[in-house]
Amino acid sequence: MFITVHAAAATILTKSIPNPFLAFLIGVLSHFVLDVIPHGDSRMGQRFWGHKLKFLQEKGELKLMALYGSLDGVVLAFLLMFLFRNFEFTRADNVIWGIVGSILPDITVAIYKLKNFKVIKWFFNFHNKNHNLLVNKINFDFPLQYGVLMQAIVLAALTWTIYLIA
Ligand SMILES: [Zn+2]
Repeated sequence: MFITVHAAAATILTKSIPNPFLAFLIGVLSHFVLDVIPHGDSRMGQRFWGHKLKFLQEKGELKLMALYGSLDGVVLAFLLMFLFRNFEFTRADNVIWGIVGSILPDITVAIYKLKNFKVIKWFFNFHNKNHNLLVNKINFDFPLQYGVLMQAIVLAALTWTIYLIA
């Protein structure tokens, strides 16, 4: 799932959690809960996109993840600028730590994918297992493009919610 969606959800969830450490934990926990919902990236649409885009044919998964990840990073940067400028509560320690907690799992996963640090292998495996828990159980995931669309809609809804609760 896009870290931008995780961050927006954590912003809402940690608004009324005054303790930054607790907010951080809620951020981390919310990441794992949201990841279980099928959202199109369990297989990264590799077969489909690998067919369409020539440059993905070699090391396709890593390239697609890098593309997806950088795009996500840019959108997250814009979301954070937007939130920090417009909503005072998002500049408080608890919300900031909540956001950090909500995106940290995916950053850890990305670091493992790139560097294979053995100490975080268990975390990588745990994250993967959790991420694909429901997808594997019901043997269904959305195609990546629908997953992205769905997440864009959810992100809009979350942003609207932030307006309403601010
Ligand atoms: Zn994740």
